[in-house]
This record gives sequence, structure tokens and C-alpha cells, in this order.
Amino acid sequence: MSQTAPKQIYTFGNYLKEKFGCKVYKVGINISGFTCPNIDGTVAKGGCTFCENDSFSASTNQVQELKGFHLNLTSKENPFLDKQLLQLKQQFQAISSRQKKEYGAQKFIVYFQSFTNTYAPFETLKALYEKALSFEDVVGLSIGTRSDSITEETLAYLADLAKEKEIWIEFGIQSVYDQTLQKINRGHDSANVKEWILKAKDAGLNVCGHLIFGLPNETQQMMLETAKQAYEWGIDSVKYHPLYVVKRTALANEYTRGEFSPISEKLYLDTLVKALQMKPSPITVQRVTAGINNASLLAPKWCYDKNQQVKKINAALKQVGLKY
Ligand code: SF4
Repeated sequence: MSQTAPKQIYTFGNYLKEKFGCKVYKVGINISGFTCPNIDGTVAKGGCTFCENDSFSASTNQVQELKGFHLNLTSKENPFLDKQLLQLKQQFQAISSRQKKEYGAQKFIVYFQSFTNTYAPFETLKALYEKALSFEDVVGLSIGTRSDSITEETLAYLADLAKEKEIWIEFGIQSVYDQTLQKINRGHDSANVKEWILKAKDAGLNVCGHLIFGLPNETQQMMLETAKQAYEWGIDSVKYHPLYVVKRTALANEYTRGEFSPISEKLYLDTLVKALQMKPSPITVQRVTAGINNASLLAPKWCYDKNQQVKKINAALKQVGLKY
């Protein structure tokens, strides 16, 4: 008796290959001077409880002159724009050359990854985005941000770019439960995320939603409800993450005091498989797990080795006739 081959989950890589007819890679960029309104005191101080704010200062030190300088939506001046543009070019060249050599990448999407990448003066954003789009073989942008940190003006501008280029916005959804968002000091509610996802979709932009499983006090039913609602809001792509604890965070303090227990690998796998089974097939998947393989990881230990995680995820998916 022949066995049916597992069904391939629609990955973002597959989508890009279909659309552009070649290997398209995301180039993750980290521009000094960007910050987050949940860290700088505009929305809150301290950031999300799981966010290692120290890593932000480390990154901002990359360009010495930018030490201590942070852009925000109310800034009018940006004396460091030229340095930021140079940094963007250097990072893009270094990463894209490696991707070409190691993986045969042919085209690129510039991914503004760290910090809140729409939280800056509009002219700065325009200059950075346009510079990124001017690089050879760049077909588009992906911009990681918070739903409370994007303006109608920026959205309209991106919608205009999207007529010619592949433009994505990545929003942290995390959970649809406001009590959870409060508990992690997220600084905005779920209605705000939904509102801006719908606006971005109306404007003709592609949206990727980030979800976290294992947030404090959440049951599996709640995690799956978050996935279900995110799918219903019309996201085009999804990234799933387990919540892990990094040293020097508010969550690390809660964990050390015994007030937070990380999600078990078994529960994460089961939740992920169910979330993938529920997912409408046109929604592409960009990430099925996350972790950190250095000493800053406090817990859970299973988030240390990403290769092992992916193996186990594929084994769990095989049981239900899927593969990643
Ligand atoms: S929104 Fe992102 S950058 Fe800002 S505090 Fe939360 S995790 Fe950190």
C-alpha cells in the first residue's frame, strides 16, 4: 500500500520563488539611531518584558557617533542620516554577497528588522527605504514595526511604493488577549493591531503577523484563538515563536522568582501543529520557531538548538501529513 507524501506547507521562500522565478532572500538590516516607543518612554519604559533592551544599546554603538542618539516620530532633524545611509549600504553589501555565495540568492528584500522601523521622521524613513530599493537586485522591502508606531502618511507612501515593488509590513500581534498584552507591558492593545493590519491591507500592502506561544497565563485554547483571529484579519504571512527567557529582562526576573513557567516543547509542538492545520493555505509561513544559542538564554533549554527544534517540528508535522 503506498503512503501519501506529506503536504508541503506554503513557505515564504516558495511564494517568492513563484513570484520572481528565482531565489529571493531577505537581508536583515539594523540601523543605528532607531529605537522603540515602548523603551524610550513615549508609550512606556522598559519595553516588552521579554525584550532585552541592552541589546539595543549594543547595536546602537555600531556607529560611534550615533551613541545615545535616537530617532522618534516627533524628531524634526536627523543630523546622522548620511551615516545611517552608509550603514545601510554596508550591511546590505556584506549580507547579500554572503547570501549569493552560500545560497545562490539572486534577488533580495531588504528587511528593516531591529527596533521599530517606522518610528522616525518621515523624511528619514523615505530616504532609507528609497536607498534600499535602489540597490541592485532588490525587489522590495519588509518593515518590522509596532501597530502604534505607523502613521497614515507613512502608510500612504508605502502603498505608493507597493505599486512597483514588493512591500511588506511586519506587525507584532503576539496575542489577541489584552490582559496578556498588559502583562508583558506591550503598550498597546489588540484592537490597535487589528486596526492597523486592516488599514495596511486596505492600502494594498502585504502584512506579516508575528505570534508568540507560551505567553504568561495563556492556555493552548488562547494561543490558537490568537492564530485564528490573526488569520481572519487577513495577514498574508505568519511567524510563530515560542516565548523564551533571556537574561537581563523583566521576564527573567519573573522566571527567577518562580512567577513564570516557560512553555514545554511538547505543548509548543502540539500548538504549532494545530495552528498550522488551521491556517488557510494562501498564508505563507516565514518562521516556525525561535531560539538563541548562547549563554543569554535562561529558559527553556529546548530553545537553544534551532536545528533540533526544526527536526522535531517536522517529525510532529509528519504525523498529520504535513512538512515544513
Ligand atoms: S516592541 Fe519590540 S523592540 Fe519594542 S520593547 Fe517590545 S519587543 Fe522590544
